[in-house]
Amino acid sequence: MTELHYEKYGLNRQTLIEKVKSAMSEKRFQHVLGVEKAAITLAEIYQGDVTKASLAGLAHDYAKERSDQDFIEKIKAENLDPDLLKWGNNIWHGIVGAYFVAEELGIQDAEIFSAIQKHTTGAANMSLLDKILYVADYIEENRNFPGVLEARKVAFENLDAAVSFETQHTLSYLVEKAAPIYPKSLETYNHYVAKKL
Ligand code: GDP
Ligand code: FE
Ligand code: FE
Repeated sequence: MTELHYEKYGLNRQTLIEKVKSAMSEKRFQHVLGVEKAAITLAEIYQGDVTKASLAGLAHDYAKERSDQDFIEKIKAENLDPDLLKWGNNIWHGIVGAYFVAEELGIQDAEIFSAIQKHTTGAANMSLLDKILYVADYIEENRNFPGVLEARKVAFENLDAAVSFETQHTLSYLVEKAAPIYPKSLETYNHYVAKKL
């Protein structure tokens, strides 16, 4: 059994789990537990920090069920890029949600903050923890979509290849639906997927 050191962050696992669980549906809470488990496994394989992987996994979707108004107020209060106001929950719950995680769950760690901010869109230069959370969110055991088995296989072999696989598939899916692409997602694509011509 992996040893987790929540005491380093002044946190208690049971209290944290209760706060996260009460902020979301049972289905989303099961997803969160799956992401935590996958993130710990990836941290073990790629020699990341397992406690940070666990905390990032548990907290990553904490803000997903909040109202649009909460996010809009937070974007203004923190003086975040006003362009964010044109987007919606899918983009806000990580980039803006990280602020609610720090304040309300008391997880105050810059690396975890970054990983939560980047978990949906990725970024051009991701840290090991950023990649672990980005990939764990995609491959966790409750996920079921065409390609998830291949994504899991790649994830356990090569983390950068898994970032690339996930990014390519997510962008193809968004393009197929004619959904707007957040610029950070394009940066991730150009950095991890696109080949030099
Ligand atoms: P979840 O919170 O566990 O459901 O997963 P994510 O945070 O990774 O993604 C949330 C949603 O945002 C998914 O439906 C993604 O397909 C979608 N998404 C990811 N990148 C973008 C983007 O650039 N633009 C838009 N419109 N949606 C995106
Ligand atoms: Fe998410
Ligand atoms: Fe998630």
